[in-house]
This record gives sequence, C-alpha cells and structure tokens, in this order.
Amino acid sequence: MAGAGRVVWVNGPIVVGAGPAGLSVAACLRERGVPSVVLERADCIASLWQRRTYDRLRLHLPRAFCELPGMPFPDHYPEYPDRAQFVHYLHAYAARAQVEPRFNQSVTSARFDRAAGLWRVRAEDVSAGEEAGAVTEYIGRWLVVATGENAERVVPEMDGAGEFEGPVTHVAEYKSGEAYRGKRVLVVGCGNSGMEVCLDLCLHNALPSMVVRDSVHVLPREMLGVATFSVAVFLLRFLPLWLVDRILVVLAWLFLGDLAKLGITRPSRGPLELKNSKGRTPVLDIGALARIRSGEIVVVPAIRRLLRGGAELVDGRRVAADAVILATGYHSNVPQWLKGTDFFTEEGYPRVSFPDGWKGESGLYSVGFTRRGLSGVSSDAVKVAQDIAMAWNHQTATR
Ligand SMILES: Cc1cc2nc3c(=O)[nH]c(=O)nc-3n(C[C@H](O)[C@H](O)[C@H](O)COP(=O)(O)OP(=O)(O)OC[C@H]3O[C@@H](n4cnc5c(N)ncnc54)[C@H](O)[C@@H]3O)c2cc1C
Repeated sequence: MAGAGRVVWVNGPIVVGAGPAGLSVAACLRERGVPSVVLERADCIASLWQRRTYDRLRLHLPRAFCELPGMPFPDHYPEYPDRAQFVHYLHAYAARAQVEPRFNQSVTSARFDRAAGLWRVRAEDVSAGEEAGAVTEYIGRWLVVATGENAERVVPEMDGAGEFEGPVTHVAEYKSGEAYRGKRVLVVGCGNSGMEVCLDLCLHNALPSMVVRDSVHVLPREMLGVATFSVAVFLLRFLPLWLVDRILVVLAWLFLGDLAKLGITRPSRGPLELKNSKGRTPVLDIGALARIRSGEIVVVPAIRRLLRGGAELVDGRRVAADAVILATGYHSNVPQWLKGTDFFTEEGYPRVSFPDGWKGESGLYSVGFTRRGLSGVSSDAVKVAQDIAMAWNHQTATR
C-alpha cells in the first residue's frame, strides 16, 4: 500500500458506498453511538438514483418494502414513490442521521493488514478540483462494503458495433424519450428497465423495438388493486417457495394471458427462485405489455450483428434503427478493489447467501448484496450495525 499521499485513521468502521445501503448502515451505527466514515466515488449520495436512472422511474415495489431502518416515508407519498420523492427521502434520511459522506473518493483497493489487525483502504480523489488524483489511505478496525449490486454497467460486445452509424448508449444514460422523438430505437434487454424505456419511448412518439434474447417472467404489478409483491410475501408465510412460484405463474397467465404469442417466453424456474438464486428480477408490468399487444413496441429476437442503419437478427431478419439503447443491466465491482479475502465470489457477491452473507472475517461486513432490493439492504444494515456496536462497546469498555 505504498504511495498513498495522506493517511487517515478512522475511529469506527469505514463504509464504502453512499447509496441506500451505506446511508442506512451509517445511520444505524450512529443510533448506537458508533461513528463511521462513508466513502463515495460520486459527488452526491445515492448516485444510482440521482445520476443513472430515468425520469419516469418509480419504485418497482410498494413503499412498505422500500423504507430504510428507522424512518418511514412521509404519509403523503404514494404507494410507488417516484424517483424524485425517493431521492428526497434519502437526503432527509442522511440529514436526520447526520451522515456526511466523503465524496469523490473512489476506493481502488482494500486489504486487511494482519500484522496490525486493521483494514487499509485506498481511495483516489476523482473530483475535477485541485485534489484530483490525490490518494488517501484510510485505516480502521472495520470495513463495510456497500458498493451495491449495480456498481458497473454491463456492456455486451456486439459484432458490427463499429459499423452502426447511430448512438449506442447504456440505459444508465437514458433520461427520457424526448431525445428520440420520431426515431427508430432498438432497446436491447427486456428486464424492468428495458420494458419501461420502451414504454417511455412510445409516450414520446418514438418507435421502439425490444430485443428479447432470453426467457423472462412478466407479472402484473397489481392484481385487483393488490400489489403482486405483497401477495407473494403473504403467501410465503404459509407456503414453500416453489408453490408460491407456481401460484404466481398461474396468476400471471390469468391476468396477462399467454405471452409466448407476443414473443416472450417464461423460464422453467419460478420467478422468486430465479430472483433469489440468480438475481434475475421478474418484470412488473406497468403498461409495456399493452403497447406490445398494440404493436407500438415490436418484440424481436437476439441480434446477430449491428449494421450501418440497424441490426441483423438471429433469425436472419433485419431491423432498421437510428439508435441503440443497452438495457443490459449492471454488475458488482467488489472483486476489482477488495483484495486478500475470499468472502466475495468472482461475481462480487458474498459466498454465503442470504440471510447469512453480511459478516466476514476480521471485521469485514457487507450490506446490500442479498438480491432482495431495499428490504435486503435494511435487514443487513441493522444486523451489521448491531454486531459492530457490540464490538465497539466491548472495545471502549476495556480501554
Ligand atoms: C432502475 C432500478 C430500479 C430499482 N428499483 C428498486 C425498487 O423499486 N425497490 C427495491 O427494493 N430495489 C430497487 N432497485 C435495486 C436498487 O439498486 C437497490 O435497492 C438500491 O439502490 C441498492 O442500494 P445500494 O446502496 O446497495 O447500492 P447503490 O444504490 O448502487 O449505491 C452504491 C454506491 O456505492 C458507490 N460506489 C460503487 N463503487 C465504489 C467505489 N469503488 N468507491 C466508492 N464508492 C463506490 C456508488 O457510486 C453508489 O453511490 C432498483 C435498481 C435499479 C437499477
């Protein structure tokens, strides 16, 4: 770890990431009297929500499943708060708990120094200011990894990418369909983001085609006014997961009909099983299906190669496009910077799965890698803060 310009001793845990996970663990720690330092590479809290999501985004799940520990949403918030409301809530959450992250600190490596019994975390200043490029080494007894499941974009390599004349962008850069008015847009990916971007493009009079390469579970967001997610959570109290999965598939068929006719096939494994094991979130339909049925969104199979003015598909057909949007998801970046531990897999998830993947060796913790969205974040944050607070109190009592 030679070469760090500045060394900072942290009295308490070092938390990497100031998204909902980093904020909630810092807040829970503070509530228990434990100070922490939160390092964030962006220049704001919740950068995923503020910088890398589209304007029409609302929470996919009902608000009751998205609150952070210790602070409910304001009463006037709707069942599915919009992006601006959620960001406002996160600002209020951070302010209430007096969490003040150190911004523009991109963690490039973290390693446990066995001789000293301490974590050494190196961060580079990525601001555009005078400090740009400066490296600081933070040293502390505990390290909390809160960099999220969506830290980096997945950008697939596509044959012919150099030939395509229009813009190819990731959904992280998509704000609204305004810029695509009247244009033919090829949206690659049919998860929640792909479906919602297609819907948004329709609402802005663009002409989207959606590339559906893999099978996907599409569920109605609500059934007779009740959130499908709430129904699943309720059923899981009494029934095994495989049975709840079967019930969900039957209900989806009853409410949405046979989607195979639209070019969307269902995986053989159930929606909850796939979410928990592979992190593949089922699509909760908020209107894209109706646009597919009406022909406003055209479903096409996988791309064989991009061409100058569009793409050739695996079935030999050609589709014209002025722009391509990659709704191909994100991945964890933990293996890029956390060294000397096998607590995380090569994909950047704790090797031990939920509910036990929050605690590693030597004061290492993780928050937000449960594949269970914000409710998983909250559950981890409370456990991690309790555990560290116990060690902290023991340490301060024996000093
Ligand atoms: C479009 C979209 C919609 C979603 N909707 C929902 C929903 O409705 N309900 C739900 O429960 N979940 C939803 N999710 C899942 C959502 O990502 C999480 O619930 C939530 O944002 C996770 O919080 P987090 O803090 O773990 O990760 P993030 O929000 O990704 O925050 C991680 C932070 O770590 C920072 N970071 C990363 N690497 C480094 C580094 N090396 N050094 C310093 N800082 C770093 C990042 O800049 C980021 O600010 C959605 C996700 C997406 C992409």
